[in-house]
Amino acid sequence: MNEQIIAIIGGGQAGAMAAAALRQQGFSGQLHLFSDETHPPYERPPLSKAMLLDDNPQLQPVLPAKWWQENNVQLHLGVTIRQLDRSSHTLTLADGQTYRWTQLLLATGAAARPLPLIDALGSRSFTLRHAGDAARLRDILQPGKSVVIVGAGTIGLELAASATQRGCRVTVVEQASTVMGRNAPQPVRDYLLARHQLAGVRMLLNSAIEHVENGEFVTLTLQNGDTLTADAVVYGIGIIANDALARDAGLETANGIIVDATCVTADPAIFAAGDVTLTRHPDGSLSRIESWENANVQAQTAAAAMLNQPLPATAPGWFWTDQYSDNLQFVGEMRGESWLCRGDPKSGKAIWLKLRGGALLGAVTLNNGREVRVLRKLIQSGRVVSETQLCDESVPLKSL
Ligand SMILES: Cc1cc2nc3c(=O)[nH]c(=O)nc-3n(C[C@H](O)[C@H](O)[C@H](O)COP(=O)(O)OP(=O)(O)OC[C@H]3O[C@@H](n4cnc5c(N)ncnc54)[C@H](O)[C@@H]3O)c2cc1C
Repeated sequence: MNEQIIAIIGGGQAGAMAAAALRQQGFSGQLHLFSDETHPPYERPPLSKAMLLDDNPQLQPVLPAKWWQENNVQLHLGVTIRQLDRSSHTLTLADGQTYRWTQLLLATGAAARPLPLIDALGSRSFTLRHAGDAARLRDILQPGKSVVIVGAGTIGLELAASATQRGCRVTVVEQASTVMGRNAPQPVRDYLLARHQLAGVRMLLNSAIEHVENGEFVTLTLQNGDTLTADAVVYGIGIIANDALARDAGLETANGIIVDATCVTADPAIFAAGDVTLTRHPDGSLSRIESWENANVQAQTAAAAMLNQPLPATAPGWFWTDQYSDNLQFVGEMRGESWLCRGDPKSGKAIWLKLRGGALLGAVTLNNGREVRVLRKLIQSGRVVSETQLCDESVPLKSL
């Protein structure tokens, strides 16, 4: 009669990992995961990389196919949740079916922020969020095709690299004066800008598209009057959180569902994790981390909080990007000026470092992923380190 029922809405990284964490942490009640996608939860990072580049691309499942049955989790695929009722603790599917829950986790992720000017191009306009988007893009990214990418954030740059590697002629249009302006420090931005230019990408910074026309090719007119022609336009200009269910249910949202550090919303029976969340900090500020690792960490946190288990320890944030043959990993704080450099980026291997008061705050590795663990520990320790030793490649980082 009083069986606990947890419903997870959203079958991405956060939803799948929350299901795994709930079972690992001993939840033995009914567990349902609802996803509007028809594939079992899959990894999104390969969509802009391997899924566009590999000869025989395969979606990478978040959990092995047999895991769901083995762990008695009911996976409802291809279903959209339309409504939540907080007083009766029910959710309603688009086809009218209802399900009861005792606790709910919203892991509905986000959608590509729309750009209606480009969407007006119909079949020549592309975004990238789901497996189907990657398949569509793969079809158009053929050798010799010319592609305009709007937005030089992480996704825009990964797309520029993949399209170039597939033999396309690529132009990137970015309204800011820099690339990856939201999440990379200045020397990393400079490195990436030069890397793309070296690969033949035309980088148009401080530029915006004002007018588009569909003909034999797409013609794009920039604000400065210049025109570009292309076979396709792909844009990656940020996300819109899929927070409508929460908003309609009266929960606090602001392009994201507002949660505290334990991933609970203002309703103690409803939790949220992943890209859909905005975390409110003790000083009242809100932040969102759109990364694979954050989806995993918040899934663990939400599961622990739902079950009244100890929360996982906090650690400096981490994300990565792969562009051409470069792997860049970002750990800790990315803001601030005056970054140091260990090694020479021109050699293809380096680490950029940010200190405050002699302690390491943040680091970005270039093709040096094996150092991330030790950098993370160093950041977490707050230990004061010598700048000279940190930048001296003959001194092992683990000795500091
Ligand atoms: C192309 C791409 C490349 C990336 N590369 C990297 C990378 O290299 N490194 C990195 O750190 N991060 C990367 N990320 C970010 C990372 O993948 C995301 O932060 C992570 O996937 C977020 O997981 P999530 O579960 O919160 O959301 P999502 O993965 O978006 O999952 C949400 C799911 O909920 C479903 N849903 C939404 N509303 C409903 C509803 N009403 N009913 C039912 N289902 C619903 C959605 O369809 C989706 O399946 C990348 C993201 C993308 C898109």
